[in-house]
Amino acid sequence: MTETVNAEPAARTAPTPKPWIEAIHAYVPGKSKGKDGQPLIKLSANENPLGTSPAALAARAQAPALYPDPDSTALRAAIAHKHGLDAARVVMGTGSDEILHIIAQGYAGPGDEVIYVRYGFAVYDIAARRCGATPVVAPDLDYGTDIDALLALVTEKTRVVFVANPNNPTGSYLPKGEITRLHAALPADVVLVIDQAYGEYVAAEDEDGAFALAAAHDNVLVTRTFSKIFGLAGERIGWATGAPGLIDTLNRIRGPFNVSATGQAMALAALSDEAFIEAARIHNRDERARFVERLTALGNHGLRPLPSQANFVLVLFEGKLTAEAALEGLADAGYIVRWLPGQGLPQALRITIGKTHDMEAIADALTRMVEQQG
Ligand SMILES: *Cc1c(COP(=O)(O)O)cnc(C)c1O
Repeated sequence: MTETVNAEPAARTAPTPKPWIEAIHAYVPGKSKGKDGQPLIKLSANENPLGTSPAALAARAQAPALYPDPDSTALRAAIAHKHGLDAARVVMGTGSDEILHIIAQGYAGPGDEVIYVRYGFAVYDIAARRCGATPVVAPDLDYGTDIDALLALVTEKTRVVFVANPNNPTGSYLPKGEITRLHAALPADVVLVIDQAYGEYVAAEDEDGAFALAAAHDNVLVTRTFSKIFGLAGERIGWATGAPGLIDTLNRIRGPFNVSATGQAMALAALSDEAFIEAARIHNRDERARFVERLTALGNHGLRPLPSQANFVLVLFEGKLTAEAALEGLADAGYIVRWLPGQGLPQALRITIGKTHDMEAIADALTRMVEQQG
């Protein structure tokens, strides 16, 4: 019997997205304009205050406008050479953003779980939901990544674990021992993603050993980007390295021409401009230390800059001056920084390390604000 009583066929009036797509909150990028639309100095997107390598800018003019090399062959070879990797184990993406999405898509789907930490990178949530998987959020340890809390959430449904190291937006960093311990305790069929978007800012002696893990094991991917220290965010270039099986999966589903010809040419030039990279790293290290020192001096007013290994500092406002009021005060002083109430951080501002005079002006403005609060 195929007849059903009272069952009207559903009215087909409009396309309906999948329920897991409807549950996604679209990514909110850092702003570059104030309330009245006046341009502000943008310290809200972790961009390089020194701009882009002049060598990369020169390479842009030479790039062809026809289809790019679909395999980014020269760029992958240069990346592999620089980091002592096998080029066959490197895959490029349209930003590391594409890489993060296709990792989730390649290994997780409806009924599966994807784990990351609270106060983690906003894209992990979107990547997990986009493929229908269930995001599972581990509690933090005073804003840092808690390996034991992550491991406590692993079940037979777990497919992917995302860890940014350094983490965005907290700036917190896990040493090699913790990354090793996390990997050792994960089942072999769980993909561990170590997102090193800020890896170039980390002091060499603090290296977290992620590349070595990715070279030695079948379930580790390390992701990197040209958006941060290289100053090429506008070109959308990221990459990952890992075992051949993982790279093969990502190659099947990435966009076929996912890195533009200008992007490939600029990244290749930027990679070998060691002087620019080193200048950016030193500038960041020194300015960050000075900035943290100035804010730490405001500790009795409730300001608490979290220790950072990245090119930004998350500042907690635990006294009379609220993060929201500080955001407005900084906009009045000409700066836009990142307030993240949507990520559960209404009490904090993430401030990108900018030029020297800008960091001084921000510290001055914050000092004036707390003094006005009495
Ligand atoms: C900025 C950032 C990225 C890089 O994004 P792109 O898509 O490469 O521009 C990846 N992960 C984290 C944690 C980041 O902060």
